[in-house]
Amino acid sequence: MTADQEDTRAIATDHEAYNATLVRREDDSPELARFWVRYDADPVPFEAGQYMTTGVFVDGKLLQRPYSVASSPRRAADGYELYVRLVPIQRFTSALWRLPIGHRMRMIGPKGRFILEPADDRTHLFVSTGTGIAPFIAMMRTLMIDGAPRRTVLVNGVSYVHDLGYGPLLEGWQRSGEYPVTYVPTISRPRDPANAGWSGHTGRAESIVLDVCREQGLRPETTVVYICGNPDMILNTERELMDRGFPEFHVKKELYWPKGKDAGLAGVAAG
Ligand SMILES: Cc1cc2nc3c(=O)[nH]c(=O)nc-3n(C[C@H](O)[C@H](O)[C@H](O)COP(=O)(O)OP(=O)(O)OC[C@H]3O[C@@H](n4cnc5c(N)ncnc54)[C@H](O)[C@@H]3O)c2cc1C
Repeated sequence: MTADQEDTRAIATDHEAYNATLVRREDDSPELARFWVRYDADPVPFEAGQYMTTGVFVDGKLLQRPYSVASSPRRAADGYELYVRLVPIQRFTSALWRLPIGHRMRMIGPKGRFILEPADDRTHLFVSTGTGIAPFIAMMRTLMIDGAPRRTVLVNGVSYVHDLGYGPLLEGWQRSGEYPVTYVPTISRPRDPANAGWSGHTGRAESIVLDVCREQGLRPETTVVYICGNPDMILNTERELMDRGFPEFHVKKELYWPKGKDAGLAGVAAG
């Protein structure tokens, strides 16, 4: 399905509950885009890693979903940056894809406890699938602005090379040393023609995470782990790490949907 061809539901352009506006949008691919949503009132403070819930009225009902904010709370005046995958069913994202810039929206938040520990000098291992990279981008942007970057290893698992959102940003930080990050993208479908020429890691995030720990010299006692995105990846990664001695309280998780809820969406990329 392409959402704008098939989703013909009525989206309300105006409603008394609307308190925000879609102010900007950048498409990375037909299925991945960044949306900036701005409150009418002053930006609400939040912590990097938290999420906003945003929506519109579709066929008379408020349809809203939570999204991790990818932008830093220190740069909120232009709206909160949300990195979103189009899920090919008629729910919220198929409506979101149809909204023109300037469309009014409902937004509430921030919410969530997937945030950094203060003054944590352990190495940060960030593991994500697809759009699950968003909160990590907010965390690193914020630490960079605060002049307090932390040594980070970031694994992002996707199906296709063109799904590696924020890749150029992270490669730039790594190359310049602007942020002490080791960026480890991995492609789960290396034989697909769309991934021809890929020479980096292959396999799902959870299948490479222990190798990455070994390569990067990450030890349980000096590493804190944050995992975000697809619930299967999160639970598998957590199991792998715990089997290798990472204590449970060194691992934080943000599940983008409940485990077992992705039946029928086999074609949708990792998270
Ligand atoms: C705390 C939190 C933060 C979130 N942050 C983001 C974010 O930053 N970016 C984002 O794209 N989504 C994010 N999500 C998921 C988001 O809320 C929606 O579920 C998603 O955009 C799909 O909305 P939908 O209404 O079209 O389909 P839904 O009815 O919400 O979901 C239908 C199915 O789509 C699949 N799905 C949901 N989200 C994704 C995804 N991101 N990638 C691949 N498959 C998916 C799952 O199988 C799910 O059961 C987050 C979810 C939570 C709980």
